[in-house]
Parts: sequence; structure tokens; C-alpha cells
Amino acid sequence: MGKLYFRYGCMNSSKSANLLMIKYNYEEQNLKVLLLKPSIDTREAVVKSRIGIESDCILFDENCDLIQLVKNQPETDVILVDEAQFCSEEQIDQLWRISVQKPVMCFGLLKDFQTKMFPGSKRLVELAESIQEIKTVCKCGRKATLNARFDQHGKMIKRGPQVVIGGNEQYRAVCKECYIQMMDVED
Ligand SMILES: [Zn+2]
Repeated sequence: MGKLYFRYGCMNSSKSANLLMIKYNYEEQNLKVLLLKPSIDTREAVVKSRIGIESDCILFDENCDLIQLVKNQPETDVILVDEAQFCSEEQIDQLWRISVQKPVMCFGLLKDFQTKMFPGSKRLVELAESIQEIKTVCKCGRKATLNARFDQHGKMIKRGPQVVIGGNEQYRAVCKECYIQMMDVED
């Protein structure tokens, strides 16, 4: 029997690097890894880490039935999901069911730029048997717990849609103190 795992962290907390190391370790044991990623903000079927390692993956859209997708890959021993915050709640339920048979490890953000949980991440917190934070620091040196969104001029964006596709926005992991300080700056 497997477990559903959720490894969450802020922007640039090396989630993808962690995922790719785990994939490497499984493959070293001759286990077959199925690497999946939601296609919501990308067309590139690759999981890339900032430190330079990458691996091909299978993209799926918001209507994909993950139970069926995994059934079509019967030799799979373990399932890894990158950017899991972009899964629908229904897809997290599907991964939870799959994890009865095989371990499923999901990596992603917990919260959006307005401190709200992504629906997929919220469902993962509800269902995962193992939840672990991948830690990172704010540029002030404190622990980062939030994700701030900035426009192309470096100005904090305070409101807007949860997911922006193909925009020029940038994200940075920040601590609570820095987040509130930036929020309180008059527009
Ligand atoms: Zn800070």
C-alpha cells in the first residue's frame, strides 16, 4: 500500500530539485517513476530545476482523469507530480485513490500571492498522509512563508486572479514581516 505525500514550499524553494532527486533515487533502485505536471501554465513537458537538472514529464490538463492516465502506464511503481497546486480538487481525490496501490508524491505551492491556498493544495492538506515543508528564506534572512507577486517594474501586485497565464509577473518568497510592510505601502 502506498501513501499520498505533499511536499510544499514557497517560490524558489527547490521543490523541483527535490522532486528530481527523489526520482533519481527511485530509478537507481530500478523502480519505474511516472512524472506528471499540470499543463495550466506551460506547454513544455519538462520538469526543470534552477540548479540545472531536468527531466521529461507527461503534461495533463484540468479535465484529465488521472486514474485512467495511471492505468495506461501499468508498469509504474511510483507517481511524482510537480506544480501540484494546479491540480483540480477532483484530480487530488483521484491521486488519493491511486495512492492506495502506489505511492504518490505531490510537490507544489501551498498559498497564492494573496495568502490563500490553491484549491488543489487545500485538498492535498486534507488528504495527504505525509505533509512536509521545503523551507526557504526571505531576502531579509527570516524564514519565508508567503509568495509575493511583482510587476515588471518590481512593484508588488496586491490583487488579481490567482493564476495568470503568460504574464510578465515575477514571484518571490517572503517572510510575513516583509509581506505586510509591502502591503502597507500606499499605491
Ligand atoms: Zn523578510
